[in-house]
Amino acid sequence: MKAVAVFPDSREVKLIEQDEPIITQPDQVKVRMLDIGICGTDKEICAFAYGTPPAGADYLVIGHEALGEVVEVGAAVTHLAPGDLVVPTVRRPCAHAGCRSCRAGHQDFCETGDFTERGIKGAHGYLTEFVVDDAQYMNLVPHYLREIAVLVEPLTIAEKAEHQLYGLMQRRPPWIDPAVSERRQGRGHTALVLGAGPVGLLGAMALRNAEFETFIYSRQQEPDPRIAVAKAIGATYLSSQTLPPSQLEAQIGPIDLVYEAVGHSLLALEVLRALGPNGIYVLTGVPGRQTLIEADPAALLREMVLKNQVVLGTVNAGPHDFGAAISDLEIFHRRWPGAVRALMAEHTPIEQAVESILGRPAGIKSVISFQAA
Ligand code: BGC
Repeated sequence: MKAVAVFPDSREVKLIEQDEPIITQPDQVKVRMLDIGICGTDKEICAFAYGTPPAGADYLVIGHEALGEVVEVGAAVTHLAPGDLVVPTVRRPCAHAGCRSCRAGHQDFCETGDFTERGIKGAHGYLTEFVVDDAQYMNLVPHYLREIAVLVEPLTIAEKAEHQLYGLMQRRPPWIDPAVSERRQGRGHTALVLGAGPVGLLGAMALRNAEFETFIYSRQQEPDPRIAVAKAIGATYLSSQTLPPSQLEAQIGPIDLVYEAVGHSLLALEVLRALGPNGIYVLTGVPGRQTLIEADPAALLREMVLKNQVVLGTVNAGPHDFGAAISDLEIFHRRWPGAVRALMAEHTPIEQAVESILGRPAGIKSVISFQAA
């Protein structure tokens, strides 16, 4: 069967042939892959700047934003059956007895760094025809989400952030009444999303859905499909080509929340200066190697202290966030069907996956599909 693999030593990215996996443990499932989303992390892995093959292997099968169909289940699996659609959890726990997070099922908060991530760190991914995996890490997806469920994993990033935010915001003015649902936490608050890629736009949908007044700040200018999505969901789009970060506050007033989804350190720092009093700044982008920048850390930290600001880094997502993403994706699709579909570019068959990953993205999100013509 076909798979897309990265060979860091020989610096190659290529289509390879592998044996089809078989179930060897009673708690495993065999999954036929349907759609795999490609994100900035995959591109970094394919540029040999990130990613680690499994121990003893000289290559890594990539792909972590996945949707598959269960084709076979092990004897001990009771909650899944052939025909079920599943989205796998990316990260798997470390083995250390002392890692409180992993031992409690919160490997997205792993304390040792010895976790594995399928398709990223120490474990093969899903850009291959069949996978055998632990049933406990498969998240069941309703069939009516078949066409869009490949967006679940990138949405989990926003879900994890939002879940943490809710706790924080309840304890900071203007207070949220704990009796108000998490879904309406944004009422009366202003949010700025940095970046109009899939993680930014899905994050913006989550923020709009939680009733934040939402602005999206990115480099594109009209006409652009990302700007069309921003407008369709009721967000206000601001282009960094015409509005410098220093003028953000003057343009939109005090910013209560920044949801950063770019991974660009200079932009992140510049926008940090625009964060309002008592504001929360959520960083989700993982900056790659970038040129050194000059900063005035004393001024930056002074402002943070004097304005009671919070900077929150967040990575990966746990089981709760997958569940929330699956139910929110359905809500987004009902509210903004055109905008959700517009996130996905043409589906590319696996035979053309390498060219697609290494080339320029055809739309907002590139998807490799095993059923594409
Ligand atoms: C993935 C996360 C992962 C992170 C860091 C992101 O692209 O969506 O699951 O934890 O990269 O490796």
